[in-house]
Amino acid sequence: MSLREQLCEYGRRAVELGLVIGTSGNLSVREGDLVAVTPSGVALDRLTPESCPVVDLTGRRVEGELRPSSETPMHLAVYETTDARAIVHTHSVFGTVVATTMTELPPVHYNALLLGGTVRVAEYATYGTPELAANVRAALEGGKRAALMANHGGMTLGATLEEAFEATRLLEWLCEVYVRALGVGKPTVLTEDQLAAVVDRMLNPPPL
Ligand code: 13P
Ligand code: ZN
Repeated sequence: MSLREQLCEYGRRAVELGLVIGTSGNLSVREGDLVAVTPSGVALDRLTPESCPVVDLTGRRVEGELRPSSETPMHLAVYETTDARAIVHTHSVFGTVVATTMTELPPVHYNALLLGGTVRVAEYATYGTPELAANVRAALEGGKRAALMANHGGMTLGATLEEAFEATRLLEWLCEVYVRALGVGKPTVLTEDQLAAVVDRMLNPPPL
């Protein structure tokens, strides 16, 4: 599948799963020095490969008629400082609930380790601005695979668009678990030792 076809496929899935509504959210996938990104203001289930712009790492459009996503500066800033090859940004409900009420998502489930443990909430800035791009980049420091964006939504990165998309599904699931747990009682946060033991087990599974 071409990069632009992948954007159409995962855009459709993002809408189907209710991770975005209307024209919210955007996706990108990088190959070499080029980034295919979703166009601005188009619902993610209405994309066609030709409608998706391709930009270089400075943001200059090299293919496509439509304006690249307003969050292209954020996507490019993340590509500049991480090994990401794909990025997914949504306004998913539970992610946005956490991003509107908290400064971080604590690790209450060991699967949080797949996103780098605690997920930070990037400081608020207007959508599409270099400030927001810088705040997201800061929230990802230390090798995080995900960040929430204050009063806005969340983003994840991956080595492929499939991986970034699965990370977004996991981020949403973790946020939902945490928010629901808060409604029932006081969630227990995993300790450093408990998380280290999980990492150890992931790296050294018991012999068959
Ligand atoms: P775009 O349609 O420009 O990608 O904007 C959607 C969005 O989520 C902005 O943060
Ligand atoms: Zn957004």
